[in-house]
Amino acid sequence: MTRTLAVDPERPDAAAIAEAAAVIRRGGLVAFPTETVYGLGANALDADAIRRIFEAKGRPSTDPLIVHLAHVGQLEQVASHVPPEARRLARAFWAGPLTLVLPKRPEIPDAVTAGLPSVAVRVPAHRVARALMETAGVPVAAPSANRFARPSPTRAAHVLEDLGGRIDLVLDGGPTPIGVESTIVDCTVSPPVLRRPGGVTREQLLALVPDLVVEARAADAGTAQPAPGQLLRHYAPRARVTLYEGTGAAVVERVGRDARHLAGQGSRVGILAPEEDVMALAPRIAALASSGRVMARAFGPRRDPDEAARRLFDTMRALDREGPDVMLAIGVGAEAIGAAIHDRLLRAAEGRVVRVR
Ligand code: AMP
Ligand code: MG
Repeated sequence: MTRTLAVDPERPDAAAIAEAAAVIRRGGLVAFPTETVYGLGANALDADAIRRIFEAKGRPSTDPLIVHLAHVGQLEQVASHVPPEARRLARAFWAGPLTLVLPKRPEIPDAVTAGLPSVAVRVPAHRVARALMETAGVPVAAPSANRFARPSPTRAAHVLEDLGGRIDLVLDGGPTPIGVESTIVDCTVSPPVLRRPGGVTREQLLALVPDLVVEARAADAGTAQPAPGQLLRHYAPRARVTLYEGTGAAVVERVGRDARHLAGQGSRVGILAPEEDVMALAPRIAALASSGRVMARAFGPRRDPDEAARRLFDTMRALDREGPDVMLAIGVGAEAIGAAIHDRLLRAAEGRVVRVR
């Protein structure tokens, strides 16, 4: 049985938080909203509780978890050394959607870090997350609260869809304000390396750490792609996703053509794209859309990438529930949070990319 408690995202009810904190303290699992996505939390110092996270998610034990803290003051409890660049980033972006990888303290169980000598740490800004961790009084290890490899949860309903019956409690604080996961910066190496684009943008990081190394996968759309095997299956709906990279009219033209071709072969085709592109596609797929063979759904405006990020996973899940066999996806470019959207779509596509010039 999974209980759900509604909480005000701005002023979380103390009784609900106390109940959730008690579950964490006795080794249970609580899903809670953060500013990025919903997390599935357990006491980071309790190896049995950590094992339950991996079981509930079906997550391979080789994939390490992020440890969440109520405030920067707790950093020394989890990290054995904090280099100056890490301090600078923490001061600028905590509380917020930035995760730092640091050398770990021995108290952090190996199960949390998948046996690595480093630990990923973040101080979330969401009031519910902070209240939960303050009341629990322990660091909280929390991956995203979805089944492994599924799109991340940005609403309590997504958590229940994936994990209902497998976890103790869900704190429902409404939709999460950023909608994609935290940015990960590895500070165990110098200069630091951007490992995952997210809520804090590459542009923001470079302003503070000019020699930051940006990995190929986190770089611009259209630059070198790592070997297919390197792409972890992740954020994937049931439909088989293909990502279309390129600009404006040419991409719309190509997606329209491919959608008509696939529908002609008998596939049910989903299109996941920015609002502007869905509008431009409408006349190209009108007949197929009215017969239900092509479903084009917009996750937000290209001109407002923050809004697009917020709605990305919810729209991906909703479209997937309509049952398409294939999903053709278009991103919003690689500027600012567009880089995180591109990264998630690329992983959902498991490397299936069509470059349109
Ligand atoms: P999630 O909790 O689903 O947002 O995923 C957490 C991700 O953080 C992992 O999949 C890793 O990519 C990354 N991560 C966590 N711990 C470490 C670590 N010690 N070193 C490098 N990356 C890490
Ligand atoms: Mg995840």
